[in-house]
Amino acid sequence: MDLFRHIQGEVRFDEPMRRHSSFRIGGPADVFVSPAGVDDLCTVLREAGECEMPVTIIGAGTNLLVSDEGIRGCVIKIGRGLGGMRREGERVIAGAGAPIAKVARWAAGLGLSGLEFAEGIPGSVGGAVTMNAGAHGSDISCVLEEVQVADKSGQLFNLPGSQLELGYRTSVIRTEHEFTVTAATFQMTTDTTEAIFERMQAIGERRRRTQPLGQACAGSIFKNPPGDYAARLIESCGLKGLRINDAMVSPVHANFIVNVGNAKAVDVIRLIETVRQRVLDDTGVHLQLELEIIGLEGH
Ligand SMILES: Cc1cc2nc3c(=O)[nH]c(=O)nc-3n(C[C@H](O)[C@H](O)[C@H](O)COP(=O)(O)OP(=O)(O)OC[C@H]3O[C@@H](n4cnc5c(N)ncnc54)[C@H](O)[C@@H]3O)c2cc1C
Repeated sequence: MDLFRHIQGEVRFDEPMRRHSSFRIGGPADVFVSPAGVDDLCTVLREAGECEMPVTIIGAGTNLLVSDEGIRGCVIKIGRGLGGMRREGERVIAGAGAPIAKVARWAAGLGLSGLEFAEGIPGSVGGAVTMNAGAHGSDISCVLEEVQVADKSGQLFNLPGSQLELGYRTSVIRTEHEFTVTAATFQMTTDTTEAIFERMQAIGERRRRTQPLGQACAGSIFKNPPGDYAARLIESCGLKGLRINDAMVSPVHANFIVNVGNAKAVDVIRLIETVRQRVLDDTGVHLQLELEIIGLEGH
């Protein structure tokens, strides 16, 4: 294909998206590009824009369910090519493709505190900003100073964190689909490395006790409703272990669905709808999705 011939990074056609989703589910992307750096990303965005090719941005694919039919147009995976990290005083500047937990550990080693909550969150910096990822009473909004983004024509500019409308697992990046995050600046505080690692260790242990680690999944399926927990509601309806083909409500954590073999996106979607309906019928609470479904019409 002539399009993307200048790209330094990987370009693949009919790439199975299950390779890029922690759920291990998803049909092919027409074109799949993993840019080698920021300039490369801007070239892809510009060229895709010029020929009106639809673009879908993904990070580590840990909050995604990709449809069995795959994704039309171009999927851009922000990964290793944008994975740098550097320190400027008490600030940490990380490329959008860097794993957020790796940034947190690197910062901890420098005596920089603020990202401890990211211990065990498997996504990228860009995904974490987009989702305002968080845990244990903290989230990205507590530390984010600014982001560098590219718009659809491949122009780069900076936005202060305060303009991103960061809320519970949401941001304008997620709702408007106008920008690709290329880097984030975190304002940290100083502490001893030992104290920071101790906090991270406690968080990691709690995760190991309460989550189905090592299984194919995409984290929490539903947001917690105000004042309650989605997992508690699902468990109270007796739905742990409920299964549709190879998609199963985790017996370890009721708000996780795990792919125990060869689950299809349709199996997960049917299971989500079944859980949602049962929780509504039994408790009156309408659960909202935290998971992002992509490649389906209407999503
Ligand atoms: C075992 C497990 C545990 C988890 N625990 C937590 C937790 O404790 N807290 C929590 O908040 N989440 C958790 N998650 C969910 C997930 O890891 C986070 O939502 C994470 O921030 C998603 O990052 P990602 O890079 O995987 O994004 P993806 O899943 O690839 O994408 C998520 C969204 O972000 C967009 N996006 C990704 N990168 C960019 C970018 N560079 N520019 C613009 N848009 C972008 C995508 O378009 C999509 O809308 C967990 C997931 C798993 C599998």
